[in-house]
Amino acid sequence: MSEGEAAIGILNRPDASVAVPVRRLALVMFGSPGSGKGTQAKLLVQHLGIPQISTGDMLRGHIEQGDQLGLCVRDLMRAGSLVSDELVNDLVAQRLEEPEAARGFILDGYPRTLAQAVVLSKLLDSLGLRELVIHLIVDYDIIISRISGRRQCPRCGTLYNATSRPPKVAGVCDLDGETLVIREDDRESVVRERLLAYERQTRPLIEYFRETGRKLIELDSSTESPDALFGRIQQILSQQGLTA
Ligand code: ADP
Repeated sequence: MSEGEAAIGILNRPDASVAVPVRRLALVMFGSPGSGKGTQAKLLVQHLGIPQISTGDMLRGHIEQGDQLGLCVRDLMRAGSLVSDELVNDLVAQRLEEPEAARGFILDGYPRTLAQAVVLSKLLDSLGLRELVIHLIVDYDIIISRISGRRQCPRCGTLYNATSRPPKVAGVCDLDGETLVIREDDRESVVRERLLAYERQTRPLIEYFRETGRKLIELDSSTESPDALFGRIQQILSQQGLTA
């Protein structure tokens, strides 16, 4: 164990419910749009003290800034299609070089194609992190009804749902008081397009993870509340010896 890794294990957290990764940890939150991977990733950030790397949030950030990259991806994202592998691979590689990611990270929405998974596999092998892929499985009809009630804070990215995870005050973020918005790609026709892209390009990666010996946990999260699912994930991380 390196000095940095050991330091993580002895971090003193004020909140007893907060765990820490025992070694540098790469968690891959995997699942279809609306499976809850973004919500769980955000809960895990607080639990583990390592950053979430959401390619969707990063891309939306560029669109909001109106920069060149944002202009490049805006129409594809609006239509529910995937953006290019090169672009996303570069974004993730740059982000992983930031000091904040040195102790580990939670990938959300990446990898999404075989080309991305191959790049990530090489990267994980070279970093020598402990790793786990968590696959959240949810019935597609449930997903469509979930996404149509979804609202997001444009400032901090926290996700809410009118029925399963309402904010304390309707339409307002609990954390920073910002007015919640509906994501442009959360319209039903676009959601169906995103599910199709997932079926064709992303779901087959499960086989790739299996073939390449990645540690994979599959959880059916169709009927559980986000908090109950989070409880199960916490338990799994501890059983797998990934948290202290
Ligand atoms: P969801 O998983 O609910 O679709 P995301 O925020 O992860 O939401 O992604 C939103 C959109 O961003 C995708 O539909 C796609 O256009 C783009 N995107 C995000 N991550 C990737 C990726 N790894 N590769 C290609 N496109 C991506």
